[in-house]
Amino acid sequence: MENGIIKTRVDRGHVEVDACILWCIDPRFRQALWDFEKAQKFGHIDVIKVAGGAKALAGNGATKKVLVEQVGASIRLHKPKVIVPMFHHDCGAYKPLNLKGETEDDFLRGEVVKATKSLQHFGLPIMPVIVSFDEITVL
Ligand SMILES: [Zn+2]
Repeated sequence: MENGIIKTRVDRGHVEVDACILWCIDPRFRQALWDFEKAQKFGHIDVIKVAGGAKALAGNGATKKVLVEQVGASIRLHKPKVIVPMFHHDCGAYKPLNLKGETEDDFLRGEVVKATKSLQHFGLPIMPVIVSFDEITVL
């Protein structure tokens, strides 16, 4: 960096992406995103990062509308082949988590079902993932 200028190189061509991914902002899970991209052999991707990943899609708050709009923009602009709603263990956006006797994984699988319903109208394949501290489960 010299005089506040950082050199970069951005491709000026139009880009289409392999996936539109809704991922949590939690920096502990950045490596998991890279591992997931690599395992799926994704090239270009759109990543929509918000606290809770796809959590807002499972609810009815204001963020849900924004997320659906952002996924719509990704589809319109970059034509992803698949939508990936992500959930993860120990997510601060869910705290305090009241599990009512179920496991955290079971709870998150229930959230996946709700979030997936919010994405079905786009007509694209949906590949939900649940990330723990040592595994990425592709549902
Ligand atoms: Zn999180």
